[in-house]
Amino acid sequence: MANSTADMRLSGGHPALELANTVDSRRGRWGPDLLRSFEDLLVLAERLDLIDRKAALRLRKQAENDLTKAAAAHADALALRESIHRLFLSEDVATSYPIDDLRLVEDHARRGRAHQVLAEKGAGYAWTLLLDDLPQLAQLFAIKAVDLLIERDRRRAVRECKGSNCGWLFIDHSKSGRRMWCSDATCGSHARIKRFRSRLKGH
Ligand SMILES: [Zn+2]
Repeated sequence: MANSTADMRLSGGHPALELANTVDSRRGRWGPDLLRSFEDLLVLAERLDLIDRKAALRLRKQAENDLTKAAAAHADALALRESIHRLFLSEDVATSYPIDDLRLVEDHARRGRAHQVLAEKGAGYAWTLLLDDLPQLAQLFAIKAVDLLIERDRRRAVRECKGSNCGWLFIDHSKSGRRMWCSDATCGSHARIKRFRSRLKGH
């Protein structure tokens, strides 16, 4: 079992879903919560290559120097995470997006967009968040979540892993589109063992 964002599996297939998955389990039990500080969010962003080393160092220093601001940025990230989770969970159950959650994610993304600058990227340019202020990190995840929403008509629905004590969200990028589990090695194999045992009992 994962203890932190440093060692959790990244199996959501999209940064917004990895953020939603920072609660180790949402089915059966809730928790443990792997996003316990601003630092945990920063570690996740680093693992997802959303932030370069220089910007990470800058935010890490800022967080250490202003604990109140870091706590506020962390609280924002938690609220955003829950909204992102409810938004994309609604795709699994094929209901409409919860409007309050949509607005919260939109609001964070909009604030992030206001800070973006046009920066060189590869041979061209891209709207880029400089990440020079703590709240921008959650805003970056919100921008990613909005990107995922915008792509909805070009991708499969986000799904929820139905493994017991799981509930992680993932997007199925496989060719067949028949992925059932957040991870075949964990929830998938638990389910296979469970099925095998119940078959043994039945005979
Ligand atoms: Zn799972």
